[in-house]
Amino acid sequence: MATILVVEDEEKIGRFLELELVHEGYRVMKAVTGREGLEKAESGQADLMVLDVMLPELNGFEVLRRLRKTSDMPVIMLTARDEVMDKVAGLDGGADDYMTKPFAIEELLARIRLALKKRAGTAAAADKNLLSCGALTLDAARYEVRYDGKLVELTHREFELLRVLLENKNIVISRDTLLEKVCGYDYMGETNVIDVYVRYLRSKLDDVYGIRLIQTVRGVGYCIKDGQ
Ligand code: CA
Repeated sequence: MATILVVEDEEKIGRFLELELVHEGYRVMKAVTGREGLEKAESGQADLMVLDVMLPELNGFEVLRRLRKTSDMPVIMLTARDEVMDKVAGLDGGADDYMTKPFAIEELLARIRLALKKRAGTAAAADKNLLSCGALTLDAARYEVRYDGKLVELTHREFELLRVLLENKNIVISRDTLLEKVCGYDYMGETNVIDVYVRYLRSKLDDVYGIRLIQTVRGVGYCIKDGQ
C-alpha cells in the first residue's frame, strides 16, 4: 500500500486526515512545518504528499518549488482560501491537484487514488520503454543506448537487433526470427546479415567495454544473458 505524507500544521485537520487515510489502508507520515515536510518528502519514503499552503517556516508553494528540483512525486495542495491565484500558483508550481478547504474527505481520497494510479501508469510505461542488461540500457522512447551512462551510437538495424535481444533476455533467438524481426518479413538480402550486425554490435560494445554481451549459440542463434 502507498505511503502518504500529510503536511498540515492544524492539528485537528492533520489528525482527521491521518485517521481517514489509515482507514483506507495507506501508511501515513506527518509533518507540521514546511521545512519538516520538505525533508520528509525528499527522503523518498512517501509516494504522494498532501500539502497545506499556509504553513510555518516555509509555505506550501515554497516547499513545492524546492521539492520539484529533485522529485516529481505527486502533490495535492490544500488551500484554505478560495482564491484563483492560489490555485494557479499551485498548479504552475508543479502541483498535480489542489483542494480548497473545507473539503469533502471522499473527494480528497478520490483525488489521491487518481494521482497514484496516474503515477503507476507512467512508471509502467517508462519501464516498458527501458530495457537493460548490466550497465547497458536501451531507451526505446528516446532511441538511445547507453553503457555506464555513456551514449553508444548505433545504426537503425543495430539498435533494432539489440532491442529484440534485450526484449527476449535469457532466451536464445534463432537467426531466422532475428532476421524477420530486424529486417522484416519481406527481406530478400543476404541471410548472414544478422551475423554481420552482431559483429558490428560487438565492435561497438564488447570490444570497447571489455564485455561479452551477445552470446553465440552454435547452430541456433544469439542470446543476451543477465550477468554478462
Ligand atoms: Ca495551515
